[in-house]
Amino acid sequence: MTATYITTTLPYVNARPHVGHALELVQADVLARYHRGRGDAVRFQAGTDDNSLKNVLAAGAAGAGVREFVDRNAEAFGALGGALSLSVDDFIRTSRDPRHRPGVEAFWRACSADLYRQRYTGLYCIGCEQFYTPAELRGGRCPEHETEPEPVSEENWFFRLSRYAAPLREAINAGRLLIEPAGRRNEVLALIDGGLADFSVSRPATRAGGWGIPVPGDPGQVVYVWFDALCNYVTALGYGQGQSEAYRRWWAGPGNRVHLLGKGVLRFHAVCWPAMLLASGQQLPTAIFVHDYLTAGGRKISKSGAGASAPGPGTPEPAALAAEYGADAVRWWLLREVPRVGDADFTVERLVARADDELANGLGNLVNRVVAMIGRYRAGRIPVAAAVPPGGEDLDVAIRQAGDRVGAALAGFDFRQATAAVWGIADEANRFVNRVRPWDLAKADLAGRLDAVLYLLARACAAVGRELAPFLPDAAARVTAQCTPGDDGRLPDPRPVFRRLAPGSRSVPAAAGLHVEEPQHDQQHEGADDRS
Ligand SMILES: [Zn+2]
Repeated sequence: MTATYITTTLPYVNARPHVGHALELVQADVLARYHRGRGDAVRFQAGTDDNSLKNVLAAGAAGAGVREFVDRNAEAFGALGGALSLSVDDFIRTSRDPRHRPGVEAFWRACSADLYRQRYTGLYCIGCEQFYTPAELRGGRCPEHETEPEPVSEENWFFRLSRYAAPLREAINAGRLLIEPAGRRNEVLALIDGGLADFSVSRPATRAGGWGIPVPGDPGQVVYVWFDALCNYVTALGYGQGQSEAYRRWWAGPGNRVHLLGKGVLRFHAVCWPAMLLASGQQLPTAIFVHDYLTAGGRKISKSGAGASAPGPGTPEPAALAAEYGADAVRWWLLREVPRVGDADFTVERLVARADDELANGLGNLVNRVVAMIGRYRAGRIPVAAAVPPGGEDLDVAIRQAGDRVGAALAGFDFRQATAAVWGIADEANRFVNRVRPWDLAKADLAGRLDAVLYLLARACAAVGRELAPFLPDAAARVTAQCTPGDDGRLPDPRPVFRRLAPGSRSVPAAAGLHVEEPQHDQQHEGADDRS
């Protein structure tokens, strides 16, 4: 059984979660559920980065104590697990988790051959928590935050990153460290080829306000928050705390070690972190999947940090969205509309339109009308037919190929392609119904034809329930329940599997199945295959 360890990055808790955080969590959850469904042993880990200097600054700006402020925001991140139906196995908080600090200390000591202390003067962006060289700035401003970094001169510990260019390049080129999409891999290789400068891995404790993990043997310094935060991927497994079974299983073993992250932290994850692992004698991650950013209503979701410490008004909170529209609709939008490469713009209108069009009118309508027809024409018993009926060939192919298409798409970190494979079954099946008109077959008393049609459609619904499971676990369970005969061998009565969300639409979806002889009403789907 392959062990697959999947992590999300740790968000700073200087503000409450926004819809951009939900994207990465949902993507990771899909991969976790998919691999579990394939029989892999999976561990899905998320958490919060508590030890950031900007958390300290944000707490001050909010007039709150740092501990209270950090706890309150971290709790909001933890609550996303339930709100978005995430199958998180472990949630680490770097300031609270008893596993973290001893692990970071052990990691630091393991890197000691590559650590040295020196005075440093540089331009520091607090939003990024990193130094920038003048060449990396855009018009003298941080490329992420568009704020001017401040000059800082201090004694720091440095990590000898420069030593690791060759082994990193080799691991990436050999495919042992997969970076997707390819554009991001090329970006990392260009960074390496451009020369890797040593980077500072500590801050004076005074500048950090005493917040953070003291450097082992040098209590006047605290461990740089990025060094600290990156360690979470192994400290949560018990690294540095004696013989840890979890560490052996999930990190030191032969399985998959997969990091999900946004493009803004690519350098830390694809250069600094692997070098830290090599320096401390550990294995590299096997895959790094990089997503781009969301905007909301055309505006950049504020990246928090210096000058912009909280999401702007109107930036949607994912838990509130899920409470109002359902986790299924939020997840579906994130998976269906956000491209593999390029930013995407979130609006509530788009979320509602996508859910009503594809979930209520597409998938929901299909399941409802098929269950209703089997109830009406076959007393709820799914007929068995050996042959695919004429005109059903494309649907048969869509059903048979969906699993492979989903797997291939997820292997390339392409959630839009993956969901398109599931959606394709429903879309093809709805068109098939409209084409073969089962109600006419029933009237014409063509029982054999009707059996074959209903059997194929029942297969389509079952396939939707099966293939949808990693993406919309709640909805998939409802679809499967509708398509599973009870002890009496009959399907349950048709019930809506999705509610309609648009204002003014009926709160209970009009079930097409209740009107199977009038297929031309407003529930019919009539779109292209994939409007993404
Ligand atoms: Zn910045």
